[in-house]
Amino acid sequence: MNEATTAKVRQLLAVPKKIVVVGHKNPDGDAVGSCLALAKVLKTMGHHPQVIMPNDFPNFLKWLPDWESILIYDKNVDSSNALIASAEIICTLDFNALNRTGEMEEALENASADFILIDHHQQPDDFAVVQYSDTSMSSTCEMVYHFLKALDADQLITSEVSTQLYTGIMTDTGSFRFPATTATTHKVIAKLIECGAKNSEIHQNIYDTNTPDRLALLGVALRNMKILPEFRAAYITLSQKELDDHNFRKGDTEGFVNYALSLAGVVFAVIFIENKQEKIIKISFRSKGDFSVNEFARKYFNGGGHTNAAGGRSTDSLAKTIRYFISILPSHKNELSHES
Ligand code: 5GP
Ligand code: MN
Repeated sequence: MNEATTAKVRQLLAVPKKIVVVGHKNPDGDAVGSCLALAKVLKTMGHHPQVIMPNDFPNFLKWLPDWESILIYDKNVDSSNALIASAEIICTLDFNALNRTGEMEEALENASADFILIDHHQQPDDFAVVQYSDTSMSSTCEMVYHFLKALDADQLITSEVSTQLYTGIMTDTGSFRFPATTATTHKVIAKLIECGAKNSEIHQNIYDTNTPDRLALLGVALRNMKILPEFRAAYITLSQKELDDHNFRKGDTEGFVNYALSLAGVVFAVIFIENKQEKIIKISFRSKGDFSVNEFARKYFNGGGHTNAAGGRSTDSLAKTIRYFISILPSHKNELSHES
């Protein structure tokens, strides 16, 4: 974080403030971990923070320190709106545009608070007085560590804060293997372990929570997987019925798309998941090398994200969405077949 940004944050936080800390819709480990950690330190500094998430988050995160303090917007609209309206500062973490908060967008747009953005997604919108945006960062949790260090607040990183930050860095880097994992990321991780994060325990809490239903659903996903060698691509589909048949719960499909990307020779992997309630097909895109799924998701599927991990949606049926996706691929054949 540069000196001008640090100075501005110091000025904003000079006296105790009412602060709302917000993550993106369908919050992941990085969103939940970064919001909880920042709120915890802000509280220690004498502020009055409240974490609000647009909607519920996966059960595999429901052990993190303070997880029960999170207000879920779509279950508490009135109290959340009151907190947003009376907030003096709103910290937006792990997203780049207010529409990433779904139903919360309007309340945030009408808020009179000063916004502090901390995020590692590409092309952030211009809504914050403090914009700490760095697309080279592994995760927003890593950025929160640098943010706290710049404010000389790193001594306030307790074992609980370390656990929250470690979790987000671990989940966003695929356990420290994606390209955005740097030497600095590992140095931050080392600090967090020194400050009390129990790395092996955290890994087990997040990843060793399979149920027979979830593994059976993974079996269905793998059987549904189609490989398109001419585009070095593979995609997976899951219908609402397939989800229902396996008692789907939020988070159950997390990581499924990575199986498609793990195929030798595949550089572009996609999972299409039907959501009858929201009347959309939720899509996750992953790539290896230079092929930008951020651009692809923005251009064709109303989404975005990072170069190698992005999301989007379609309001067509599952079958029509797949036909559309397949019809687009030839125009990207050169990029996809030239990937190293
Ligand atoms: P996932 O596929 O796991 O939902 O998301 C992958 C990455 O893309 C995450 O960093 C997520 O925040 C981002 N992402 C997912 N959906 C969207 C979207 O609709 N718009 C934008 N801008 N980013 C998204
Ligand atoms: Mn993130």
